[in-house]
Amino acid sequence: MSPELTAALSLCRNLPSPPAIAVRLIELAQDPETDIASAADVIALDMGLSARMMRIANSPLYASRRRIENLGQALTMLGLNATLQLALGFSLSRALREDQNHANQLDAVWRRSILSALAARYLGLARNVRRVEELMLAGLLQDIGILALLQLRSDSYPELLASADSNDALLARERTILDCSHADIGAELCEQWGLPPYLVEAIRHSEAPAEPADLFERCVALSGSIAEIWLSQDTDLARDTALRLVHAQLQMDSSQFEQVLQQVSQMLPEISALFDVPVPSPARITYLLDHASELMALRNLRELQDASASKRRADDFEQQARRLAEQAHLDALTGLLNRRQLEVVLAQEFDRAGRADRPLSVAFIDLDDFKKINDQHGHLVGDQVLQAFASLLQGQLRGSDTVARFGGEEFVVLFPGTNEQTALEVIRRVLGAITQTPIVTVADMPLHVTFSAGVATHGAYERFTDMRDLLKAADDVLYRSKNLGRNRVIARAPDPHPTAC
Ligand code: GH3
Ligand code: MG
Ligand code: MG
Repeated sequence: MSPELTAALSLCRNLPSPPAIAVRLIELAQDPETDIASAADVIALDMGLSARMMRIANSPLYASRRRIENLGQALTMLGLNATLQLALGFSLSRALREDQNHANQLDAVWRRSILSALAARYLGLARNVRRVEELMLAGLLQDIGILALLQLRSDSYPELLASADSNDALLARERTILDCSHADIGAELCEQWGLPPYLVEAIRHSEAPAEPADLFERCVALSGSIAEIWLSQDTDLARDTALRLVHAQLQMDSSQFEQVLQQVSQMLPEISALFDVPVPSPARITYLLDHASELMALRNLRELQDASASKRRADDFEQQARRLAEQAHLDALTGLLNRRQLEVVLAQEFDRAGRADRPLSVAFIDLDDFKKINDQHGHLVGDQVLQAFASLLQGQLRGSDTVARFGGEEFVVLFPGTNEQTALEVIRRVLGAITQTPIVTVADMPLHVTFSAGVATHGAYERFTDMRDLLKAADDVLYRSKNLGRNRVIARAPDPHPTAC
């Protein structure tokens, strides 16, 4: 490079300077103590950058299974190195696109950069170069020298760039007129900015006439040839040239090469949108890639079908599990809550009543002489009676009341916020209803049942220490009502009408 150009480069006031955030990211990348939290602190300051980081973390490039919801998750998933490289790429590209004077030419440069970034990544992956994020960043920034030259030589370079119909033609003119290439300028600029040496060297060797000795640098240099397939007028020629170079320099065969094209093509829409650079896909390359992608599409389809079948299985399983869970709470014969669940609800209501200082009444109900029904009409009729009684009982109560089958022909009702007298009246109304209407009809014969019940209340004139004591108190009263001759409902508190029903 001519000494004048080097001097101009270091003195030029118009030269794009890295934004403060990129400077901070460069410092972080060079500090061995850096952790993901300090990277997150820097990135979080810039909303646009944070949004891009989350978007790229959710993009197919990283194919994360779970949706990334915030910046912390995005950076943790990406890891420190990818975070720094990607953030640097985003912040530099944004700053470098701010030159409004050469908008069209800048767009063309960035189109090539995006394609090169993806091509470098997938060439590297194919050759087991593990530093894919660094490859992407180097691919992205390899033409940074063109941006610098547009400003340094704003009188002559835009025209030189516009008149070159290929990258090779551009390089030839640069060497004749400037005595260096945009790659030399780009490397110089990156060095001045303090970017890491790997990046400086990869950019310096990206357009060198001789193939770089380093595999990483070779991937970056060849990425430009792959980008040409999308950008050149003659797609077939660009494709043949790229394949020849990739074969000679990376020892890749044509199917590996096709795969790289396929991968670049798949990621292109998402990544170009992320950088706000529209990259058109020429019809010819679409055709080539579509053809190569038929097998891939079939495989994807099968995967999708498998996924939807397994989702269906998971849904069925979930429904079954829900049914089983419900069944674990419900009594199989009557559909009322079972005893176990009653105890759960009673404990909650007992607690709530204590906290809200509201009464909680409990009625214990036992059908009278039920054994006789079984004996005279059989167990199936006995079952029907239990079912009919359960639905009648439930129908007579409010939604806030809880009904459970305690076991056999015994039922329990919980009345939250209800005093003893009201609970007593409700249960007496139920008894009145079943004594008047046959509970079931057996062989055209109406069958009547009665029951005995006891009501106890927590929080009115008496407070129980434990919900079990409350339940036992209601059971004791039930026992008393049986002893008093059945077919009645009585309360624990002194009742002005002990035998009324
Ligand atoms: P009491 O008036 O003293 O309560 O007399 P009872 O006959 O109702 O009471 P007992 O406890 O002597 O008998 C209850 C009967 O309920 C005995 C049992 O076989 C019957 N039983 C319990 N569970 C079921 C059931 O699910 N279905 C049927 N059909 N009968 C049941
Ligand atoms: Mg009983
Ligand atoms: Mg009974």
